[in-house]
Amino acid sequence: MPYLTQLADVARRTGYPVTEVAGWRSRGHGPQPEVQGIVCHHTAGPAGGGDYPSLAVVRDGRPGLSGPLSQFGLGRSGRIYVIAAGRCWHNAPSTSPRHDNSSSIGIEAENNGTQPWPAAQLDAYRRLCAELCREFGLPASRVKAHREVNTAKPDPHSIDMNAFRAAVAALIAGTTGPTWTEKIVRELPLIRLGDDNNDVKTVRGCLFARGTCPPPPTPACQTGWQGG
Ligand SMILES: [Zn+2]
Repeated sequence: MPYLTQLADVARRTGYPVTEVAGWRSRGHGPQPEVQGIVCHHTAGPAGGGDYPSLAVVRDGRPGLSGPLSQFGLGRSGRIYVIAAGRCWHNAPSTSPRHDNSSSIGIEAENNGTQPWPAAQLDAYRRLCAELCREFGLPASRVKAHREVNTAKPDPHSIDMNAFRAAVAALIAGTTGPTWTEKIVRELPLIRLGDDNNDVKTVRGCLFARGTCPPPPTPACQTGWQGG
């Protein structure tokens, strides 16, 4: 398996914002030999310091362990940082042959090891795992906490991994309901260039509510178009 240069596109399918960290396509301890599993981590970084203060450590490593330490970083806001396309040093020794460095992808989520997880970050965590499972043809059971495949590790703290995997499985199966974008595509009437009717006004209202359009003549989105 070569360098996994599709990882940024896979991350974008979550709907969460993606930062491609400069040089990620060729960063790694050689190419990634295979992807049989996904390992979830927390960074044990600082309690404060913004969205992803552990970026430099995950990219460049720390004394005694050279970077990159994982393919992905996950910020407190749910923003996904694509750090490396090759093999990373995120789990050794592994009690599972499908979750060692040569066989799995690592996600380092920003958390100091005790602080509560923001809802958006957890949602992005599950969606990123689901999209990776889809991309590499894996069942949700291949998503493991670091502590489940390395007895010396505590991370990621306080996440019920059985519930986490059940949510990932539902996302893979598409039983969680459509995303906002999918809903819009499905429910919106076809609008043609030059149309000026109530459908156009409603669309303008929704775009304005999302901050992507100037003020519309009608102020509010219709019910049923939000969320998802
Ligand atoms: Zn870890």
